[in-house]
Amino acid sequence: AFNANVAAAQSALNAFIVATPEKALEAARATDAKRAKGEPLGKMGGVPIGMKDLFATKGVQTTAASHILEGFTPEYESTVSQKLWDAGAGMLGKLNLDQFAMGSSNETSYFGNVISPWRRNDGGNAALAPGGSSGGSSAAVSARLAPAATGTDTGGSIRQPAAFTGISGIKPTYGRCSRWGIVAFASSLDQAGPMARDVRDCAIMLEAMAGFDPKDSTSLDLPVPAWEAGLSGDLKGKKVGIPREYRMDGMDADVAASWDAGIAWLKDAGAEIVDVSLPHTKYALPAYYIIAPAEASSNLARYDGVRYGLRDLPDGAGLQDMYAATRAAGFGAEVKRRILIGTYVLSAGFYDAYYTQAQKVRTLIAQDFKNAFTLCDVILAPTAPTAAFGLGEKSDDPLSMYLNDVFAVPASLAGLPAMSVPAGLNREGLPLGLQIVGRPFDEQGVLNAGLAIE
Ligand code: GLN
Repeated sequence: AFNANVAAAQSALNAFIVATPEKALEAARATDAKRAKGEPLGKMGGVPIGMKDLFATKGVQTTAASHILEGFTPEYESTVSQKLWDAGAGMLGKLNLDQFAMGSSNETSYFGNVISPWRRNDGGNAALAPGGSSGGSSAAVSARLAPAATGTDTGGSIRQPAAFTGISGIKPTYGRCSRWGIVAFASSLDQAGPMARDVRDCAIMLEAMAGFDPKDSTSLDLPVPAWEAGLSGDLKGKKVGIPREYRMDGMDADVAASWDAGIAWLKDAGAEIVDVSLPHTKYALPAYYIIAPAEASSNLARYDGVRYGLRDLPDGAGLQDMYAATRAAGFGAEVKRRILIGTYVLSAGFYDAYYTQAQKVRTLIAQDFKNAFTLCDVILAPTAPTAAFGLGEKSDDPLSMYLNDVFAVPASLAGLPAMSVPAGLNREGLPLGLQIVGRPFDEQGVLNAGLAIE
């Protein structure tokens, strides 16, 4: 049934880059066989999921939604996807995303934008962005094409699309999920996580995805907690911090109202609400848009026409010409913009003024959270400053696109677990999300607060 829905919805949503119905069926059959033999089915036994096309999948094209990787078929499987298959899940297909996960609307994909299944309640049919970069994942789960999907989050790419489409998604503590076999964007920030209908499904799937991996030098060597078994919406004795600096002037009234409702729900669940301060919040976005492009410019140096999909070799061209032609044809405009910014901020003469300075700001932001967590257990804030915007509305204005990440980026810079859960609709009938940020390794606290809200 899921395979049929994926095929039927493709022209309306463009959520998938390739469908792999046989893989989903294979997992279903394997699960049936286990059931017949009375063997344990695995945490994700038979569950068909969507895989963001940033995860290397053996024998199945992996593109990062970029022309430069078109036709690249990995000989290996990413650790996270392998763990999901080992837990019994099956792959419905590879999901569309912003090219190299750079974007907040899924409009930078070489394979066309994803269309959110949501519409405003104004009787019109204006197409909306599903958020990004995990826009294929959010659209697929929200349209019920998949019960769950993988996402990755470098500066909000799990949380913001989840908020835009009324689903849940968690970015665990940096290092919980192995980055091995995930196409690298900004290695000190990239983190995988689940996107699903509700908090419980996220807990189940995160258990299957997380765990130490010697192939990733930043992988956390910690046991995976039993998050699902630990779920409890009772927050008695817990303190929830409300960061003063996130109440920005001119904040969208519906977003502010949903935040107030969230505060009331957490109080009802027994939590005590406290005021906290994250004084360096206003520097998070500028620091992120230096650090992430800097790392990207380095990571993307490997796409040269030699090792992966695309090769543009003009007649009589030498090696340098091939590099230039391949990269000119293969990367999209946003990717080129990031490479240029990253190369600039890392260049001799500018390095200290931009990159070193941004790293110092990053430390201050992490310190802000550390101080706040002496007063509270989790922090509650909106996931994004607005509900979903229209396709094309921000695509010509990178700065206004970047501003949409304002609430998501600080937790990424600090490496903290952060989740978005649905928190009602705005006046236009569009979903809003609330974000819960926790202490390092306290996914349980984050999930439990999410459960109290959903
Ligand atoms: N929107 C942010 C960016 O464009 C975050 C992307 C992400 O988390 N992958 O960089």
